[in-house]
Amino acid sequence: MKILEERIIKDGVVRAGNVLKVDCFLNHQMDISLFQEMAAEWKKRFEGQKITKILTIEASGIAIACIAATAFDNVPVVFAKKTESLNIDGEIYSSKVTSFTKKRVYDVFVSKKYLKPDDHILIIDDFLAVGSALNGLIDIVQQSGATVEGLGIAIEKGFQGGGDSLREKGYHLESLAIVDKLDAETGEIGFRK
Ligand code: 5GP
Repeated sequence: MKILEERIIKDGVVRAGNVLKVDCFLNHQMDISLFQEMAAEWKKRFEGQKITKILTIEASGIAIACIAATAFDNVPVVFAKKTESLNIDGEIYSSKVTSFTKKRVYDVFVSKKYLKPDDHILIIDDFLAVGSALNGLIDIVQQSGATVEGLGIAIEKGFQGGGDSLREKGYHLESLAIVDKLDAETGEIGFRK
């Protein structure tokens, strides 16, 4: 998606450790017009697919998922909550996620009330790196018996492999920008053609 790539080039900052900071429009200050264009683009790319709910993960996925929902008939948005210690009480689906940026393992969970076997889920998140967050969300959807219809990502860091491994498994993954090169020394950002 050209405008997203242009925005990343204009405002993205490359940090050591393969981290791309986009606080100016996505992770701290949020550009809602851009989010609306992203929502319309996902709508096009998932055209014809039945979506009854959007699932994301706190915190940064929530705003993007809410704007995305407006392009999908305002379906409900559910976000997986993160916690460092989980009391399994039988009322939740849970999975483990390793945070790429914070290098910590979290339990993530969703109440059983909000995912049902007849749901068709579009999973939305801001970034895809090695795929731990998405795989945790997919695991939760599978526990519920619902169907994963698609995966919508704003920025995939293609060189970290998470996206290609999900494509190989047959998931319909639509990343709006795929970064294939991040150079912390020169600040260079390259995209997959
Ligand atoms: P994964 O689980 O695929 O390794 O990483 C995805 C998660 O880590 C996303 O939910 C996102 O919050 C965070 N993340 C991974 N890489 C980056 C990055 O380069 N920049 C930012 N801002 N977040 C990232």
